[in-house]
Amino acid sequence: TAKIWVLGDGQLGAMMRHAGMPLALDVRPVDIMSPSEEKLPLAADDIITAEREQWPESCLSRQLSEHPNFINGPVFGRLADRYTQKSLLDDLAVATAPWELVEDQTEEAELHNAYGERVLLKRRTGGYDGKGQHWLKQAENISIPADWRNQAIAEQAINFDEEVSLVGARSADGKCHFYPLALNLHQDGILMASISPLTRLSPLQAKAEAMLSRIMDALNYVGVMAMECFRVGDTLLVNELAPRVHNSGHWTQAGCHISQFELHLRALAKLPIPELKPALPIAMVNLIGVDHDSNWLSIPGAELYWYNKEVRPGRKVGHLNLDASDNAEVIDALLALQTWMPEQYQAPLSWIMNELQ
Ligand code: ATP
Ligand code: MG
Ligand code: MG
Repeated sequence: TAKIWVLGDGQLGAMMRHAGMPLALDVRPVDIMSPSEEKLPLAADDIITAEREQWPESCLSRQLSEHPNFINGPVFGRLADRYTQKSLLDDLAVATAPWELVEDQTEEAELHNAYGERVLLKRRTGGYDGKGQHWLKQAENISIPADWRNQAIAEQAINFDEEVSLVGARSADGKCHFYPLALNLHQDGILMASISPLTRLSPLQAKAEAMLSRIMDALNYVGVMAMECFRVGDTLLVNELAPRVHNSGHWTQAGCHISQFELHLRALAKLPIPELKPALPIAMVNLIGVDHDSNWLSIPGAELYWYNKEVRPGRKVGHLNLDASDNAEVIDALLALQTWMPEQYQAPLSWIMNELQ
C-alpha cells in the first residue's frame, strides 16, 4: 500500500505518524539533515508531505521534493519567503500588517515616516519562534544591520488586542474544513499557550475562514494550513501563514475527534472528512526549556506529548493538552500544573485561568 513520506523528522512528523496508525496509514518521517546517500524506496503512488517550510538540499530531501506526488510542492518556497508570502496576501487583498522590502537604498527615517516609531524587521527566510527579528526604534536611533538589506522585510508594529490563529484544511476536491479559532499567548516571540474553542471568538470565525479559504483556493492547496492573526478590535490582520500542521493546532489532539495531524493525512490520502465538531475547552501549554516531570501525568485531564529532544533554554521540548468537561476543571488542572512549573510559567498559566474564569 501507498506510504506517506514526511520531509523532516521532528515532533510534527512524529505526531503525524502517530495519527496515521489507527487508520493504518504508513507515515514515514525522513531525517533530511542526514548526509545519507540511501535510495528511499519511493513508489509512484506514494504521497510526499513536509513538516517544515524550508529544508537544505540533501540526497534525501531531493528524492522527496522531486517526487511527482510531492503535495503543495511550489507553495513551500513561496510561503517560506516573507517577501513572496506578504506579496501573496496583498495580491489576494487579505489584510496584513503594512510592510515593504528592505532594499539597498531603504532609509530608517523613511520607514519611521511610513510606519511609525517602532518598525519590525523580519528576515525573509529561516525565522521561527521570534528568531530573525530586529526592532527599529526611532527614539533609540537603531539602524538597519547591513546584512539585513535585501534579506528582510520591514513591518509596521501592530498594537494588537490579542493573537489568534485558524487551522484548516483543503481537500483535493476544493472543500475547506476548519477548527474554531485558537487564542494564542506568546512570550519573547515564542508560543507559550493556546486555548480553543472560546465562545467570545466565534463572531470572528466566519471572517477568518473566508480569509484562509481565499488563500488555500488561490494556491490550489491540499492539506492543513495555519493562519496566525492579530486581532485589532473586530478586524483580523494576517501575521503569517504556515503550510503545515502548526503548534497552535495541537489542542485538536484532545479537543476534536479528528486532530489536525489526522485531518492533514485524510486530505492527502483523499479520505472522507466529516464535519469537525470540537466542543470542550482545551488549554494547550508548550513545554519550553523545562525538564521532563512525571508529576504532570498526575494532573486530571492532562495529556503529555514529550518530544524526546535535548532540553535547552527556549527550546520546545513537549506540550500538554489540558482537557476537561468544563472551564472550572481546566482551571483546577492549571492550578495543579502551576505547582510543578518554574517561574516563567506562572504568568502564562494565570493568563489562561483568567481567560477561562
Ligand atoms: P513562528 O514560530 O510563529 O513561526 P516567527 O519567528 O516566524 O514565529 P512571527 O510569527 O512573525 O515570527 O512573529 C513572532 C511574534 O512576534 C508574533 O507572534 C507577535 O507576538 C510578534 N510580532 C510579529 N510581528 C509583529 C508586528 N508587526 N507587530 C507587533 N508584534 C509582532
Ligand atoms: Mg513563522
Ligand atoms: Mg508566528
